[in-house]
Amino acid sequence: MNIIETRDVCKQYGNVLRVAHLDLDVPEGSVYGFLGPNGAGKSTTLKMILGLVRPTAGSIQVLGKNMDGKNRLAVLRQVGSLIESPSYYGHLTGEENLRIVQTLRGAPEKNIREVLQLVRLDGQRGKKVAHYSLGMKQRLGLAAALLGYPRLLILDEPTNGLDPAGIQEMRELIGALPERFGMTVVVSSHLLSEIDQMADHVAIIREGELVFQDTLEALHDRSRHHLALRTTDNAAARAVLREESVACREEAGYLLLPILSDGQAGQLTRLLGAQGLGVIRLEERQKSLEEIFLELTGKAASL
Ligand code: ADP
Repeated sequence: MNIIETRDVCKQYGNVLRVAHLDLDVPEGSVYGFLGPNGAGKSTTLKMILGLVRPTAGSIQVLGKNMDGKNRLAVLRQVGSLIESPSYYGHLTGEENLRIVQTLRGAPEKNIREVLQLVRLDGQRGKKVAHYSLGMKQRLGLAAALLGYPRLLILDEPTNGLDPAGIQEMRELIGALPERFGMTVVVSSHLLSEIDQMADHVAIIREGELVFQDTLEALHDRSRHHLALRTTDNAAARAVLREESVACREEAGYLLLPILSDGQAGQLTRLLGAQGLGVIRLEERQKSLEEIFLELTGKAASL
């Protein structure tokens, strides 16, 4: 079952479609990475899913229900979220801040201690939030989102502004949630490496449009192997390849070919030699995930 389904969802600001015809399917129990460069429309989409921004067009189902006025509150009771930097009462401790959220949500009081432990803030319970580091505030935000043990957790760039150790910690926490609590997690990021390390499903958007949606494994499958050939005369080598019906294209001084069997590759180098062509390089290559991301989004993976 899909815990979120959006169909043809659009959001227009001014006269620009910032989110365009999105069909997202988030399988229950997944860590669903929502990936795209800054400004691609991730936050806007997540806010529409949470009912914080009204779509210009399209429909959104969460937990099997349409996100309309009638169902919204009932649905949101089962959803936790961390969108943008959370705000707190700085003069109160982390535990006191969580108590406010717990009372508002009507969650059991024992959950406060549990979620503080979960995000490893139990040692800092008595500390005023004004004295928290950014990483601690982010973890407190996650604790607040987890308070009611929601079926669905939506996290918008939860590692933004964290140092490498904080990022690692957040990643481990998030990755463990489906198994430990049966939660589904939607997590957005502009960093491919991050999604690669914690998600099992991936959606990639570019300028508001969905350019990829499948399992992480399927994304990895795209990094197919190929052969790169460089000869003393690539133009002449192309003619030989054409005669042998081997597809190729030229890129940066190399002819890129599909993977050939050892027999085919041996035959090809003999033919090239017979034409007086020297083989300078014949190497197997694999596209990196970064290259695929670049192809899909037109932006480098770290932008
Ligand atoms: P992301 O989360 O992927 O960085 P956003 O969803 O925040 O992207 O923004 C997508 C685009 O929509 C950006 O060009 C942004 O400037 C624009 N945008 C977002 N919110 C508003 C708004 N309230 N009014 C006008 N434009 C907006």
